[in-house]
Amino acid sequence: MTSTMTEPDETTGTSPQRYHHTRTIEIAGRTVRAHVERDFYINQSRAVAEVLNDQMTWTSLAADAPSDWWHNTPTPGPDIDDPARFLSPVTERLLQRAATILATPPTTHTISPHLHGAISALLATSYGYDAEHRIDPDEITWAYTHGGALHIIEHPDGSVTFTKHHREDCPFITSRGAQECDEDCYFPHPADVERAHGR
Ligand SMILES: [Zn+2]
Repeated sequence: MTSTMTEPDETTGTSPQRYHHTRTIEIAGRTVRAHVERDFYINQSRAVAEVLNDQMTWTSLAADAPSDWWHNTPTPGPDIDDPARFLSPVTERLLQRAATILATPPTTHTISPHLHGAISALLATSYGYDAEHRIDPDEITWAYTHGGALHIIEHPDGSVTFTKHHREDCPFITSRGAQECDEDCYFPHPADVERAHGR
């Protein structure tokens, strides 16, 4: 496979069986790379976003199922002279998802009694006063990659807002609930996103 550095942070390569596109960027002080490999075979193709950890190895942050993009990209061959042209939408999408995951505020290791009560109320009002609800790892990943990052805002009157409705620079988020949303927060519905990708 021939590899060329097209930009300092970008690598592409082509061979008769496959082509790839890798982009490496800094997000919140961490080194993140998205690597997309379009093989002749769908099950040998992959699209992953990874973050460089303290041990200087790559930890997976997010992945795109080949079925989301493989069919929309051309078959490897001599015509593919610019892999980035076909794969950069996938690498961009992965980097955006990585940015969303890394932008999530660090988890508090202890929950205040008040916040514990609010989570109890969220469960009780959503699923019933004697509810039990188990969240799968897949659902956590899904929640990270759809909609906004989770924000928990404790208001002066004792109420608590749990929200994934707002973008990071929305006035409601930046003011911790003191100002109203400017109504510019919009996240496409997952079903619409999947339709746009041709599923
Ligand atoms: Zn908003």
